[in-house]
Order: sequence, then structure tokens, then C-alpha cells
Amino acid sequence: MIEKVLIANRGEIALRIQRACRALDIKTVAVHSEADREAKYVRLADESVCIGPAPATESYLNVPAIISAAEVTDSIAIHPGYGFLAENADFAERVEQSGFIFIGPRGETIRMMGDKISAIEAMKKSGVPCVPGSDGPLGDNEAENNRLATDIGYPIIIKAAGGGGGKGMRVVHTEAALANAVSLTKAEAGAAFNNDIVYMEKYLENPRHVEFQILADEHGNAIHLGERDCSLQRRHQKVVEEAPAPGITEKLRNKIGERCAEACRKIGYRGAGTFEFLYENGEFYFIEMNTRVQVEHPVTEMITGVDIVKEQILIASGEKLNYQQKDIIIRGHAMECRINAEDPKTFIPSPGQITLYHAPGGPGIRVDSHVYNNYTVPPYYDSMIAKIIAFGDSREIAMARMRVALSEMIVDGIKTNIPLHVDIMKDTGFLAGGVNIHYLEKKLGL
Ligand code: ADP
Repeated sequence: MIEKVLIANRGEIALRIQRACRALDIKTVAVHSEADREAKYVRLADESVCIGPAPATESYLNVPAIISAAEVTDSIAIHPGYGFLAENADFAERVEQSGFIFIGPRGETIRMMGDKISAIEAMKKSGVPCVPGSDGPLGDNEAENNRLATDIGYPIIIKAAGGGGGKGMRVVHTEAALANAVSLTKAEAGAAFNNDIVYMEKYLENPRHVEFQILADEHGNAIHLGERDCSLQRRHQKVVEEAPAPGITEKLRNKIGERCAEACRKIGYRGAGTFEFLYENGEFYFIEMNTRVQVEHPVTEMITGVDIVKEQILIASGEKLNYQQKDIIIRGHAMECRINAEDPKTFIPSPGQITLYHAPGGPGIRVDSHVYNNYTVPPYYDSMIAKIIAFGDSREIAMARMRVALSEMIVDGIKTNIPLHVDIMKDTGFLAGGVNIHYLEKKLGL
């Protein structure tokens, strides 16, 4: 069993991991930048180590500092959370080479999934449905690329194999624009990701974003925990997530979920992971896998009763999965609003001191947040300060509870996007369920 976990992250996810550890009677080490020194979750940890100045490159991304913090505190394992080093294969390998347990998949798995071409190849082998595409890197032969695009059918999208964060993608509508788009995307990908390999996919015009949560252990067991709908996005950033996804039948859920679980068994996946799909006209199309815990994991926890972070730790300890697929029963509906410190209209970040903080409560309400009265939101990191999760027997009940929660929440001193969420929770299109990934931007007039 793991006796001590170093949490290589900050904010709400650092607190979430700390809570899971404490419930398992595991000691925690908080590493923090100079800017996060006073944070309450840092004080709550059994030990804390300052790993550098405020900028993430010098602290939360500072691999040698994190490894030495693990050494001086005699930590057994390192949990990377999400963002920062969570999907850095070199970091995962460095952790293990230094004699610690990485709470996540093996480095080679992270590397394989980080390359979208090899990820798609692995998925195809396991029968996971993918977007029709080039099935490999694009070469320099213009005629060949034209033929590929015609076969797939315009519009198509050129994507960087090493891309991330919604960057390194270009939609092409006509053959006349293809050659130029390929060379532009290649140049951009080379500069941004140090890897100029690009591939081609059918561009789906009005899909939804639906993703499957999986858990897999080292002993060849893998299960899925159903899906989440994260279609409400702005600039590829999720704003509201819910589970289950409106309109997905149990039969389809079980079919796609089982394919994902099978893919995990085939590649020897270890830990929690997410298969992201675009969903259009009743069909699922795999786009990428996230090899870590996600911001939106609580909605799945609410409808399955599974503590995903606890399971990550148990899996990393070498335990067998506590659940078989038949034990996973999806009940009710959950919705999550990401509360950001930002202007609700311009989306400009609004760091600073929170002069008054009051979190909502009541039946079915969960708030995951590291902030409190007089907490200062630092300007250096992601602007998310809280997640409100509302659960109910039905989607309507969950949304009604969310509306009450939003009206109760007080965050004074800084601007937040609470007014945007209030608006979304009474939007008739969203109320009907099943909107596509362009819906929010259209509503906002972007
Ligand atoms: P990243 O790793 O940069 O997040 P993804 O492959 O997950 O890249 O794609 C990010 C977003 O780009 C998707 O959520 C979707 O909005 C859009 N996208 C990617 N591939 C396609 C496609 N084939 N058709 C339509 N939209 C796509």
C-alpha cells in the first residue's frame, strides 16, 4: 500500500486528491509555488514543500524540484492531477526511474496516446470507431493528398499528430485550398509542437462532444463508467458538463463503453482515462484519449457512486479493480458548472482577492473548490476557482438544483462567470438537451 502521496498540482484538484488520500489514511505532501504558499489545502497537507517561484515553468512544471521534494519527504507515489505534467510521458518515466510510483499509466502509454496517429491506430485495432481519415501521416505528394481528401469527402480537417489544446488544426472546404492548408498546418505544428507530422480527417460539421470514462488495473481488468456530454464549450474549453449524455441509449453506451474497455485491455492501460468522441447522427467517432483524471470527473462519480481518484490510487498500489462492469449502475443525472475568475462577457481573467465567499449547499449539491474568504486568486494559473456539481434523479431536477446553487453562491471582490451559467441554465436549447459543440459560441455571438 502507498503510505504517502506527493500531489504535483495546485488548486481544486490538489485538494480533491488530498481528500481521497486522507479518506484512505494516506499521508500527503503538497508542493506549491511561492504564489500558493498561503493556500489552505497546502496547510492541510501533512507536509508541504515550496518548489519554486510563481510561474508554472519554474514550479509546477519543474521536474527536478518535484522529484527532489518527493525524495526529501520520503513520498512513495506522485499524483499529477490534470494539466501541468499530467500527460508528460518523460515526467512519468522520470518519476518511476527515481523509484516512485506514478499514479497514472506507463510513460509509453502516455506517449502513444499523445501522438494522435498512433492513438487512432491503437483504437482501430480494438474496434473503437474513428473518424474516416488518412490513417497515417500525410506526405508531400499533392495528387495523393487530393485523392485522399476526395475519397473522404470535403470538408476535411488537417490535424497535427502532436497537437493539443485545440491548436494545430485547419478545416479545408475545397481542393484548391488543400495543398496550402497542409503546408501551413505542418509549419505551425513544427513550430508549436516540435513535430510537423499532420494527418487528415473528415470534418464533422455539427457534432456533440461525448466522452467515456474508463478504469483499468494492472491485472488486465478494465471497465467503463458511462459517458459525459461536454459539448458546451468556448474556444475548445469546456464550460458545462453532464452525465449521462442526453439521448444516448443504454445499448449504445454499453457497446461503445465496452469497446473502450477492450482497447484498454489490449494496450495494457493502467489507471483512469477518458476516450473523447465526436458524436453526430447517432454515430461515435474517436478523436483522442486523455490519460489522466479530468476536471469533469465528478459528474461521473455522482451517477455511478465510484470515487475515481480513490480508484486511481488503489490501481497504482497494484490492487485489482474493486468493480466489475455489472457493478456499475448509472443512476440519476449530474451537471457541472465550471466557475472561473473572469469577466462573464469579455472572458478576461479577473484575479485578485475574494472579499466574501459563500458556497452553495443542499440536497444533491457538491462544490469542489480550494477557495475561501479573503483567498487571493493568483494571476499566474488557470482561472477556474470552483466547480458546482448538481445531482438529481432526473436532468430537470439536477438543473433546478443547479439554478438554486448558482443563486446562492457568493464570490465578491472579483468577477466570475456565474452570470453566464445562470443564463445557460435557463437557455431553452440547452434545457432541451443534446446541443452541439458550436451552440455556446453561437449563443454568445462569437
Ligand atoms: P486537442 O488535443 O487539441 O484538444 P482534439 O483532437 O481533441 O484536439 O480536437 C479538439 C477539438 O477540435 C474537438 O473537440 C472538435 O471541436 C474539433 N475537432 C477535432 N477533430 C474534428 C473533426 N474531425 N471534425 C470536427 N471537429 C473536430
